[in-house]
Parts: sequence; structure tokens; C-alpha cells
Amino acid sequence: MRPLRYARATDVDGAVATAAADPDSAFLAGGTTEVDLIRLGVARPRTLVDINALPLADVDDLGAGLRVGALARMSDVARDPRVVARYPAVAQALLLGASEQLRNMASIGGNLCQRTRCPYFRDDVSPCNKREPGSGCSALDGISRGHAILGTSEHCIATHPSDVAVPLVALDAVVHTVGPSGTRAIPIGDFYLQPGTTPEAEHPLEHGELIVAVELPALPLARRSLYLKYRDRQSYEFALVSVAAAVAVEGGVVTAARLALGGVGTVPWRARLAEQRLVGAPATAERFADAAAAELAPARPRPDNAFKVALAQRAIVRGLTRATQGGRS
Ligand code: SF4
Repeated sequence: MRPLRYARATDVDGAVATAAADPDSAFLAGGTTEVDLIRLGVARPRTLVDINALPLADVDDLGAGLRVGALARMSDVARDPRVVARYPAVAQALLLGASEQLRNMASIGGNLCQRTRCPYFRDDVSPCNKREPGSGCSALDGISRGHAILGTSEHCIATHPSDVAVPLVALDAVVHTVGPSGTRAIPIGDFYLQPGTTPEAEHPLEHGELIVAVELPALPLARRSLYLKYRDRQSYEFALVSVAAAVAVEGGVVTAARLALGGVGTVPWRARLAEQRLVGAPATAERFADAAAAELAPARPRPDNAFKVALAQRAIVRGLTRATQGGRS
């Protein structure tokens, strides 16, 4: 048995200082991923800094946008009427993630930082560059059905598992942090790092840096956003493919488009190639399919997950079609 020091923080600066003082520390919020990984031996913190007493659970109205505290629970955010009305894709993604019990515990900040569900990462035995840099990637010649087809490298092909991160990426949310070096506002598009040669580095947070809030920017288009999720079973399952979409159409022509994908990328995937094809094009199924094909052209599937290319293309077309029909998922 390994000793584990538990520290309950009462203010943000104290939490950051306690975590920064031990290079083997971790923050504990809802614990729905962290405690699992500790039990599996994948995470081995020496100090666990419990942040649940910090005043970071509110959703504040900024007038145009919303500021969601990092400790707000998934279920509370999903049912907040302001989120439902102004960012429906966010509410839908939250309700399609995990189980009700987990949503009642899991925090927004923790959700953004959750680790991959790659089975080799979690077994604490197989070679895995993300868990043990330089050891190899067991998924390359192993089970890869749920793995990524976009943003992969020869060092890691794991998908990012978050649902809510997908619409947050599509809508250009901002991650606010407090760390040993001060405060930061990180555009969520810069928050997730593709694996490259360093799959163990998943985000740009320095050790001891704490997510304190996620800001949803003012974006009228977001009121018509939606989130679709395709998976092996209809509840308590991770996405094979998911789509967050918001589209504005005037006179039959797309004037603005936001599109992001889950389940196919090593990071929540902003579909910029598709967005570029869409703006100025007729809002037709043919043009949506053309945009989807452009986005998936760089895909590098494995034999096990080659089906994701066609599935993602069809999901994009469906998402865009429904988004132009009023944003109901
Ligand atoms: Fe590890 Fe990534 Fe390979 Fe999975 S895909 S075994 S997480 S390196």
C-alpha cells in the first residue's frame, strides 16, 4: 500500500500552493475519474488536494455569455435554463455523457481534464506512451475500434473521451485558470494538445494550475446549436462519433457554421476544413456531404476503426441538416 496525503483546500490560492509544493500531487473534485485511476494504479499522486470546498460551483451570467464555475456539477449545468436556452448543444452533450449518478458528482473542470478510455492506458501493464513515455503504443497493433482517426501520431491514437468538450470547442469557450504563475484565460482550441511525440502531455497546464471556470462566449448562433452522439448502446457509453453543430442560413446560403467532432480525434476536433467549405455554400445535403468529406480526408484509420470515416461523414450531414431545421437534436 502506498501512503496518500489528503489535504482539503479552503481557498483557491491555498489549493494551488499545496498542489504546487508537491510534484506528485493532484486535485480532487468529483473524483469520478481520478479515484478510478488511483485504484487502478495508473495515477499515483502522493498528495491529493480536495478542492470541493472552494466557491467555484456557480454559473454566473455575464450579460451576453456565461461563466461556469469549474466545480459546477454536470447535471446542474445541463439543467441550468440559461445553458439550455443559449447553449443547447452544451446541455445536450452533458446529458448524453456518463450516467445520472456520475453527472451528479462529476465537475465541469474535471470533465475537461478526464483521461482517455484506451484500455491499454488503464490496465497498468501494457506498453503505453501516454502512461509511461517511451514504452510504446499497444493500440497500434491491438484493439483500436474506439480509437482516433484524426490527429493521431505513431506514438498514440487514443481519443479524448469528453462529450461536453466537443460543443465547447465548437463555440470557442475559454478556460480560466489560477496557477503558481498567476491567472490565465486559455482559448479551448489551445487547451487540448495532439499527441505528436509527447502523448503524455495533454494540455498546457503547469503543475499546480487549477481550472476555476469555463466561459461560454456571447454567440447568438449557439442558440440553435445541437449535439448528436452515436455509440454502441444508448446510455452510459462513450461516443464512437459525435457532432456539435450550429449553422446560420440566409436565402438558402450558409452564412456561418460551427462544427466539432467527438470520438474520432485525439482531441475534441474542431472541423475547420468543413466550416470553410460550408460558409457561402448552399445549405443542401450535397454540400454538407462535400464538407464532411473534406474534413475526413486527412483521416488515418486502423483496420478496426475504418468504419468511423463513413460514420462521421453521415453524422456530420445529419447534424448540419438538423441544425438548419431549428437546432433540435
Ligand atoms: Fe497508450 Fe495512446 Fe497507445 Fe492507448 S493509444 S496505448 S493511450 S499510447
